[in-house]
Amino acid sequence: MKSTYDEWAQATRAVRTGHEHTAENENSEPIFATSSYVFESARQAAARFSGDEPGNIYSRFTNPTVRIFEERLAALEDGESCIATASGMSAILAICMGLLQAGDHIISSRSIFGTSVVLFTKYLSKLGIDTSFVSLTDISAWEAAIRPETRLLFLETPSNPLTEIADIQVLADLAHANGCLLVVDNCFCTPVLQKPLGMGADLVVHSATKYLDGQGRCVGGAVVGDSKIVGEEVFGFLRSAGPTMSPFNAWVFLKGLETLKIRMEAHSRNAMALAAWLYEQPSILRVHYPGLEDHPQYSLARRQQKAAGGVVSFEVKGGREQAWKLIDSTRLLSITANLGDTKTTITHPATTTHGRLSEQEKALAGISEGLIRVAVGLEDIHDLTNDLALGLERT
Ligand SMILES: *Cc1c(COP(=O)(O)O)cnc(C)c1O
Repeated sequence: MKSTYDEWAQATRAVRTGHEHTAENENSEPIFATSSYVFESARQAAARFSGDEPGNIYSRFTNPTVRIFEERLAALEDGESCIATASGMSAILAICMGLLQAGDHIISSRSIFGTSVVLFTKYLSKLGIDTSFVSLTDISAWEAAIRPETRLLFLETPSNPLTEIADIQVLADLAHANGCLLVVDNCFCTPVLQKPLGMGADLVVHSATKYLDGQGRCVGGAVVGDSKIVGEEVFGFLRSAGPTMSPFNAWVFLKGLETLKIRMEAHSRNAMALAAWLYEQPSILRVHYPGLEDHPQYSLARRQQKAAGGVVSFEVKGGREQAWKLIDSTRLLSITANLGDTKTTITHPATTTHGRLSEQEKALAGISEGLIRVAVGLEDIHDLTNDLALGLERT
């Protein structure tokens, strides 16, 4: 096993880490489409099952293609261990099921992916796990929410869709001072733009569906952290409950990781240009993008991230009616709630990704009816601004 990845720069790890040639000497990573593995003897089978001998047993537990993806993502995040999951949501579920029990308490940013809110409030609550929601950027609110039974602090930064930025280091210190773990959903930045473990976070969670794939093909997720928590406790839930990543999907994500760096830089460049253009449009009330100097956490974003990322949101005058009109008048942009694709996507958070939140939850999270989110892809910036200009003329 070539485990010398720490000598390599991130760009090299993205292309090379984890792949050991098989006897065929293939240059591209193979897809191991197999559900189980044969043993040399009954004795070896027994040793594998008892855990005395490491090695493959069954693809719900481990698969060589999935393992290449796990090792490579761990190397990119500077983490000890990674487990791949069937989706981003099952990565978050695996953390909670692996680490928490009835009576435990989570503090979460209010500005997280809508389904994560549903998972915490509708399902984990049934198991006696309570969640308090606080403002991502208000440290005193996090502090005030801590209880003796608090185990996890959970956040996304930048947040979706308003791109607020959390100070990871400060929240990691707060978590550790109170015997809690900090979990960062690093979906929007990826390890190319931000490495939360290096700033004190204990666990990084990914929806690989987004930028890690990068071309909108497969659904997947991952958890990265130290080998005890991730490799034993979170993995323990995964191998028993089964939301594992398929080898085919792992292979697609591996190919995505190989181009992640150049894509994240290009997404950020295009998003910066689009945000600056939107900022100049008179019919737009506000633009939310961490690369704009009037973003409330502009200097924190510059310190914490290598670039501002690919997601821009903005508010139009006239609420839902005008927002829908603008979305419907675009010709090039894809009307879809996905993000992290080479194709630029446009969505109305209040009625899609955040549609299941109550009116009060939406108001607290700042999801107004005039808000539009654009996940900027890799098309030419002039074609993107021309497309949005069509709709702006009509609003
Ligand atoms: C999409 C997304 C998720 C959920 O991931 P799936 O792969 O769709 O299950 C979690 N967090 C963030 C920030 C996301 O954008």
